[in-house]
Amino acid sequence: MQLNASLDEHLSQIPEGLASEPTENLFKLAENQLERAFKVVNVDESVREILSQPKNEIIIHFPVKLSNGKTQLFKGYRVQHNNILGPYKGGIRFHQDVYLDECKALASWMTWKCALQNLPFGGGKGGVKFNPQQYSIQDLEHITRRFTHALGTNIGPEWDVPAPDVGTNAQIMDWMMDTFSNIVNMSDKQSVKRVVTGKSTVCGGSAGREEATGRGIVHCITEWAKENRFNLAGSSMIVQGFGNVGSNTAKILSRMGVSVLAVGDQTGYWVHPEGFNPYKLSEYARANSGLDGYPGGQRITRDEFFSTKCDIFVPAALELQLCAHEAEALQCKVVVEGANGPTNLEAEDILLRRGIPVVPDILANSGGVVVSYYEWLQNKRSEMWDIDDVRQKLEMRMTSTYQLVSEKARYLRVDMRTAAYAIALERLQEVYSRRGVWP
Ligand code: NAD
Repeated sequence: MQLNASLDEHLSQIPEGLASEPTENLFKLAENQLERAFKVVNVDESVREILSQPKNEIIIHFPVKLSNGKTQLFKGYRVQHNNILGPYKGGIRFHQDVYLDECKALASWMTWKCALQNLPFGGGKGGVKFNPQQYSIQDLEHITRRFTHALGTNIGPEWDVPAPDVGTNAQIMDWMMDTFSNIVNMSDKQSVKRVVTGKSTVCGGSAGREEATGRGIVHCITEWAKENRFNLAGSSMIVQGFGNVGSNTAKILSRMGVSVLAVGDQTGYWVHPEGFNPYKLSEYARANSGLDGYPGGQRITRDEFFSTKCDIFVPAALELQLCAHEAEALQCKVVVEGANGPTNLEAEDILLRRGIPVVPDILANSGGVVVSYYEWLQNKRSEMWDIDDVRQKLEMRMTSTYQLVSEKARYLRVDMRTAAYAIALERLQEVYSRRGVWP
């Protein structure tokens, strides 16, 4: 299904608003990563063809009457990449730079991520192109509800299940769930709660969902440390982006004795040789919509941030932040991708040449979708699992998948990203070869 896509297809080649940042097309990066993986794995030509594009690209324009009395037209997206393994699954982003090819790339990464983690989900992603920081809470509610209404039955608990991403959170998911439950039959109101995951716990969310992506990243770091006989206690990290993913990763690692030496976001970069307090930093960033003005540490340039000597670098902001220039500058032992698509191919090659491994996004940040699956299951069964249960299950899944990817990389003699893709593609290939292509 593709609505009103022609103009957007043209515009999607130019990531608007990213003038000071890399202008590479994100879907091109996703295509190039896939091409690399196809070289080491046996995937039929027909399956390659199917996986090369999303099944549905939905673009909607919806009006919202704002609290200033004006009516504004918003542009929303939902891309559904593949659903051979289960309902489409993936985040909703509220950001001024959302564009079609970005959603296509992010949706395809969700397909590989769910296949890699052996979850009964496919890949989807969506968003609304606007800056949520410029709107009141009442306006955000109206925008969310009107977007959900405009998506209508293009989402659904057994069809396409959104979750939080950049610029969205549990509150946005609660409004989406509430709106959706009001457009279905009365008798379905309760059963459609799992139309979104990442809800607040009082509205049916899972304990441990908010921290899940960060916690999953920490499990990957722990596994990497074990493999390399590296002692995390007393080590150091730098984090780009201090929202949900960056702050939760930093908080959990700090409890393991890792100090947060440098941080940054769109408002600037800071260093603290003795280490930041990630709890205070996170509270500040939340209250002030960014790190600017934090009373602690010293301001540094973006270049200085990337060349800060540390053990672990976690990009946890937006895509395409790590290009050749940054890859040459980094002084870390490992890059663990919290963000989706933060590293372009050139940067990855440079890092690998320099002996710096990259734990890829589809593995490293998959803890979020794993606990989203747990939330979806709990809603389906009317259960509420306690936090220890969720954490234990997440740890088991993250560590076993990390080990699987690591073994595959050694076996195929490839980097971890290619190995993770290979596992995901082999699973998808197997299902396609059994089910065939209808009719
Ligand atoms: P968020 O909105 O909570 O945080 C985003 C952070 O990035 C903020 O600190 C923001 O200030 C910063 N940022 C924005 N623009 C920036 C720029 N130009 N330069 C530097 N920093 C910038 O979002 P999040 O949920 O933490 O998501 C971060 C990344 O993790 C995204 O790539 C997202 O797709 C990915 N991810 C999120 C989840 C999840 O569960 N939330 C799961 C998997 C992957």
